[in-house]
Amino acid sequence: MIDYKKKAVILQCGACKDVIQSQYRRHFAACHCGQVYTDGGDDYIRIGAEPGAEYAVLKEFGVQGEQEDIF
Ligand SMILES: [Zn+2]
Repeated sequence: MIDYKKKAVILQCGACKDVIQSQYRRHFAACHCGQVYTDGGDDYIRIGAEPGAEYAVLKEFGVQGEQEDIF
């Protein structure tokens, strides 16, 4: 078992004001208007936005993760 750092980010789209958060690895979360998106859940963070789209990072945090079996 290994310890790992969990990370998460919560975003708010500047256009539609949706608040989005990816809940788990490869969970693709997009806002209502589709201009801002994030995925990766607690495994990694990927943030994407359409050209010119604005977004705010409401919260960004890393948490000591639980133990996880490699297998
Ligand atoms: Zn939006």
